[in-house]
Amino acid sequence: MLQETIVALSTPSGNGAIAVIRLSGENALAVADAIFKGKKLTDQEGHTAHFGRIMDGSVVVDEVVATVFKTPRSYTREDVVEISCHNSTYIIEKILKLCLSAGARLAKAGEFTLRAFLNGGMDLSQAEAVADLIASDSSASHELAMKQMRGKFSDEIKELRKELIHFASLIELELDFSEEDVEFADRQDLKDLVNKLQTPITNLMESFALGNVLKNGVPVVISGKPNVGKSTLLNLLLNDERAIVSDIPGTTRDTIEDEISIKGITFRFIDTAGIRETKDKIEAIGVERTFEQIRKSAIILLVFDPTETDPAELKKNRQTLLELVDGEKTHLITIANKADKPEVREALKPFDLKDQVIPISAKASENIPMLVNALLDAVSHDKVNQESTVVSNARHFHALEETHISLNDVLTGLDQGIEGDFLAVDIKRALHYLGEITGEITNEDLLDNIFSKFCIGK
Ligand code: GDP
Repeated sequence: MLQETIVALSTPSGNGAIAVIRLSGENALAVADAIFKGKKLTDQEGHTAHFGRIMDGSVVVDEVVATVFKTPRSYTREDVVEISCHNSTYIIEKILKLCLSAGARLAKAGEFTLRAFLNGGMDLSQAEAVADLIASDSSASHELAMKQMRGKFSDEIKELRKELIHFASLIELELDFSEEDVEFADRQDLKDLVNKLQTPITNLMESFALGNVLKNGVPVVISGKPNVGKSTLLNLLLNDERAIVSDIPGTTRDTIEDEISIKGITFRFIDTAGIRETKDKIEAIGVERTFEQIRKSAIILLVFDPTETDPAELKKNRQTLLELVDGEKTHLITIANKADKPEVREALKPFDLKDQVIPISAKASENIPMLVNALLDAVSHDKVNQESTVVSNARHFHALEETHISLNDVLTGLDQGIEGDFLAVDIKRALHYLGEITGEITNEDLLDNIFSKFCIGK
């Protein structure tokens, strides 16, 4: 079944000079040979490229380059041919149809990567990283995906699982000899092991907050009374970024209008169009929609004008905002704007400028680096460069959560001195969830769920 030859366009349709059509499976080379006029691909070595023509009978469809990969040295570990043709919808459709007539079938979403997984080319979390890598749009999300694809995270999970398996087998042994009333698995050792495992699992779970932010960007809301300078500040931040981006020819900012990237981390300003269009809408308190946005944010920038807001009122506003959100997860950065004006500097005196309030001038672009640092600190960006593994996949996070719960059950069971067979159930549950991360334990639903989210051709 797996050996069936599949074909799909592996590059996005649209503008571009060339397109790549990928064939994989038992007859990949034969299918290609049936439509390719040039050297016989079946006779060629793996990792070689060959110029030739794609023929529909006697009609030349295109001049192409066919790259040959031979099992097991290919992405799917099967025989693979990649046909690089000219990027015309007509040509692509024609070549796909010719491949189908020659015995291939269209690949399903994610099927190439699914095969790579099933044939042992990569484990499940690595396969998922392929999708993340393709979707990565910042250096931080790219680095995360790259690490995961290279298997660092999988290795850690497999190591944890191995230790637990050892104990599970001792418990099983004990059960086999249950009449003898022997204990092969020392209860204190098991307790120590479970406690030891909980630490990296907790660390990995905690890293998800950061991982999620790095992968999907950090949602930021700018709030404050009308006319305090919210749009001026936003434009300043966006313009700083634009200066960098516009150096790259052909980039348009239309789609990422309200995103900035600082040190590889994407900050997304939620519904900031709203800020520019209707200024009174975003007034910190009052509008339900604003509440919604604030709840969704990881960072709130509260902008105020010190000549209009005194420390007592500011404190009240800060509290109102913090009550709206999960204080643990949302960072509130308070900004006193218009510090270029002497009267503002005077009014600033009673505020705690050290760690509470950052004075800036959005108009004169003063003290912006301090604000930028506060943004970076809020997502503890320094952790990104450390060696520690960061979980960025929600599925992995949930599996870790379940593992954690199961291991806690083991600990409770040990404290209550329960029977080995009950302990075995909880240990197995923990093993199951750890195994689901890397795909050592899997089922069709799980695979369907993961790979159907891929595009066709991946
Ligand atoms: P928003 O309603 O909070 O979005 O405020 P705007 O960004 O539209 O700014 C309101 C007014 O304050 C505009 O006239 C800005 O030019 C002015 N403004 C904004 N930031 C500063 C600043 O840092 N210093 C001074 N002097 N004026 C500012």
